Amino acid sequence: MKHIVILGGGFAGINLLNGLKKELGISLGKEVKITLVDKSSFHFRKVLLFKSVVEDADLKVPLKRYCTDGMEFIKGEAITCNHSKKEIDIKLEDERIKTVQYDYLVLALGSVIQEIPSTLGGTTLSSTKTAIEIRQKLLSLIQLAKIEENKEVRRELLRIAIVGGGITGIETSAEICVWFKGEVQKVGLNPAEVEVILFDSKEHLLRGVPVKVSDRLTYELKKIGIKCISKTRVMKFENGQLVCTNGTTYTVGECIWTPGVKVNPIIQTFNLPLSNENQILVTDTYSIKGYSHIYAIGDCARVVDKKTKQVDGMTCKEAIPQATRLSKILKNEIYGVSNSIIHKPYPVKLYCISLGPNNGFVWVQKWGLDFILSGKIGSRIRERTWNQASLLV
Ligand SMILES: Cc1cc2nc3c(=O)[nH]c(=O)nc-3n(C[C@H](O)[C@H](O)[C@H](O)COP(=O)(O)OP(=O)(O)OC[C@H]3O[C@@H](n4cnc5c(N)ncnc54)[C@H](O)[C@@H]3O)c2cc1C
Repeated sequence: MKHIVILGGGFAGINLLNGLKKELGISLGKEVKITLVDKSSFHFRKVLLFKSVVEDADLKVPLKRYCTDGMEFIKGEAITCNHSKKEIDIKLEDERIKTVQYDYLVLALGSVIQEIPSTLGGTTLSSTKTAIEIRQKLLSLIQLAKIEENKEVRRELLRIAIVGGGITGIETSAEICVWFKGEVQKVGLNPAEVEVILFDSKEHLLRGVPVKVSDRLTYELKKIGIKCISKTRVMKFENGQLVCTNGTTYTVGECIWTPGVKVNPIIQTFNLPLSNENQILVTDTYSIKGYSHIYAIGDCARVVDKKTKQVDGMTCKEAIPQATRLSKILKNEIYGVSNSIIHKPYPVKLYCISLGPNNGFVWVQKWGLDFILSGKIGSRIRERTWNQASLLV
């Protein structure tokens, strides 16, 4: 029996499991055994992290839910990989080390959110714990504003800065803005006194999007009450003052950092070929250069289209098709069938963004044309993509 070990039950890992289930069918458990290893017992829907700032959102899906048809799940942290012996060491919850043998190993160990040093002030939105901390801070600002008679000081308390204009920063700003206005109104204050400012160091919001699309998104954010300040790098948040590298300062109640992700640092210890960004270098069949039988997909892999040299981004829309393709490649490999499946870049340019409850923004570029859907329909599409990514529909 061949043994496939998948490290990581994030978006790439669970979609690979799903693809293998479809590809291998009845061979599962008979000719092929699959083991999923994750340091958590759940798949974390991190694309929805911003929701935890405003409500107790349940973003955890038990990984056992995906390990059907006799698939095995091991809760533990992959710590060392012995390529020549085809073994992986896993640190279990009780600190014991379990060595697992594999025929095929797939690394889907993803990325982690970059932490802004606490000395720079404010809070980084990096986990549900920090999301709840942010919520508590914002609610205490409302209590201070409630007893503040000076209108200007009250407005300063109700002014929130979000730093980082990527998808997380945009979605967090929109969700917070709508919720915060509602909370302010509940205590009898004027929601018009709330101001949410989204800071970004670049000239336009979102990478790779035409300027007119970025401008339209900025307009949609303005309609909700969010002010976008571009070409401005925030340096620190101290005593209610947000200090920017260009010398400007803003008085705000709270600063929330949404700085983006970096490749999972554990990857660096596995002694595999890495890119400058510490992603694993893979071929167009996702195997690791120089190491047959080891594959990498998702955020931890540097996937390049041979023809166009286009590099896949660190998003679900890239990780999921990689996983689906790899399930077919592995099936061909296991059964000795000559493989014609190779990596292809995502066929359209696409962004799906939530702009608070019942509001969304979807941009698709195909045949050189830009298509935008916003409002309720944009929100519905967004919700569907979240659920599809976690295999909940
Ligand atoms: C806040 C946020 C918002 C985002 N929003 C979007 C979005 O709107 N749209 C979009 O397309 N993309 C978005 N992304 C990016 C998207 O989440 C990633 O591209 C996607 O998660 C990549 O999937 P992955 O499986 O490669 O990695 P991950 O989802 O990071 O999964 C890695 C898994 O490996 C496990 N793991 C890590 N180390 C070990 C170890 N040593 N041993 C065992 N298990 C381990 C982790 O527990 C995790 O389950 C967002 C990312 C963040 C952080």
